Amino acid sequence: SDANADLKALIRTIPDFPQPGIQFRDITALLLDGPGFAETVDRLAVLARPMAPDLIACVEARGFLFGAALAKELKLGVLPIRKRGKLPGQTVGVDYALEYGTDRLEMHAHDLIPPRRVLIVDDLIATGGTVMATAELVRIQGGEVAGALFVVDLPELGGADRLRQAGITVESLVAFD
Ligand code: IMP
Repeated sequence: SDANADLKALIRTIPDFPQPGIQFRDITALLLDGPGFAETVDRLAVLARPMAPDLIACVEARGFLFGAALAKELKLGVLPIRKRGKLPGQTVGVDYALEYGTDRLEMHAHDLIPPRRVLIVDDLIATGGTVMATAELVRIQGGEVAGALFVVDLPELGGADRLRQAGITVESLVAFD
C-alpha cells in the first residue's frame, strides 16, 4: 500500500555498517517522524491483536522503542530482554549468534510466573538468531510464544522462515531484499 511505501521510505540504508559488506537498515529517521512513528505503532498493533498476547517481550535496544510503544497501545506490560550483565536481579540467559558476532540474552528469572502469552517485538529480523534465543528464554521460563513482530524483515537472510519452521507466527511491516 502507499502507507507501507511511505514507511519504507523512512528507513535508510547505510552501507558497510557496522562492518564492510553489511547493508545496515536504519530506523532513526522513522523514529524522528511523528506521524510515521505513530503509523508504525498503529500497524504493529493491528498485526499484534490476532496473536492475543498478554505481555510484550522486546529486545535491547531498538526493540525497546517499538515494544514499549506497542505495549502502551495494547495496554500490556513489557518484559525487557537484555544483553548480558544489565539486569540487577537473578537472571536466566541464552547464548546466541547474530548477523555479526555473538552475545547472551537475559531476563529476570521470575518474570513469567504465572505463565503468559508473550509477543516478541524487535525492530528488525535478519537471521532470526536473536528471536530464536528470546523464544527459548520465554519457553524455558514457562511462557508461551504468541508470535514475533518486526518493523523490518530481511527475507533473504531466512530468519522469518526459520521462526515459522519452529512453529512461531511471524509478522512484519516492510521487507528489504
Ligand atoms: P538476527 O539475530 O540475525 O535476526 O539479527 C537481528 C538483530 O540484529 C536485531 O536485534 C536487530 O536490531 C539487529 N540488526 C541486524 N541487522 C540490522 C540492520 O540492518 N539494521 C538494524 N538492526 C539490525
